[in-house]
Amino acid sequence: MSTLYVVATPIGNLEDITLRAIRILRDVDAILCEDTRVTAKLLQKYEIQKTLISYHSHSKLSKVEKVFEFLEAGKDLALVSDAGTPCISDPGVMLVSQVREKFSDMVKIVAVPGPSAVISALSGSGLPSSEFLFLGFLPHKKGRETLFKEIASSGRTVAFYESPHRIIKALESLQKFAPEKKIVIARELTKIYEEFIEGTATELLAHFEKHPDTIRGEFVVMVANDRTREQSSNKTTQAIKQ
Ligand code: SAM
Repeated sequence: MSTLYVVATPIGNLEDITLRAIRILRDVDAILCEDTRVTAKLLQKYEIQKTLISYHSHSKLSKVEKVFEFLEAGKDLALVSDAGTPCISDPGVMLVSQVREKFSDMVKIVAVPGPSAVISALSGSGLPSSEFLFLGFLPHKKGRETLFKEIASSGRTVAFYESPHRIIKALESLQKFAPEKKIVIARELTKIYEEFIEGTATELLAHFEKHPDTIRGEFVVMVANDRTREQSSNKTTQAIKQ
């Protein structure tokens, strides 16, 4: 039986990888990755030499068939993305789903946990996170306004990914649809310029106007809401009473 390992890799700092992930990357027959140059850098740090097969969400059928051939031949493969956990706003979902469907009795699928930007962002945000709504990347046009209305009325902390080109636009929408909400932005997690910035949308827009040099890198945006804040303060009060 062959195995397809879905392996989480660092989101910036190359030390953020588990011992198990390193062992698996060392042991598999080949690694499926997004950008071979990015994965090569990681492998170089851990002195791993391995066949790399590039794989994207728009990969041609021939590429997918090549992956199937590997698995049918009893070989073990690891699937990684450029950063973080594969399939979480990253390529791989179709592949994992097809392998699960086509080879359920001859390929074992193993998820190897590790970093994911949304989880790291929430863990450092101080926002209630026992329940949260993750939206990945927001659509650029269709459905965008509806989604911002949903964010504004959600009963849970909402997290989404945003690029530096669109972060101001996202904050302007939040200013329009959720002007009172507390927002926490996690930027460049695990990297040199890592920071958490918080405030209302208006305050954050003023911040970026003052520090335009920080409108770069990678962002996770988290929106708090009253219900989750109330719940967390109630729980804290209860804990104090006990
Ligand atoms: N699969 C990845 C994960 O598990 O985190 C996410 C991949 S998605 C293509 C890339 C987006 O994740 C970026 O645009 C950014 O919003 C977020 N992201 C990735 N690395 C980050 C970091 N170091 N700091 C903040 N956000 C990050």
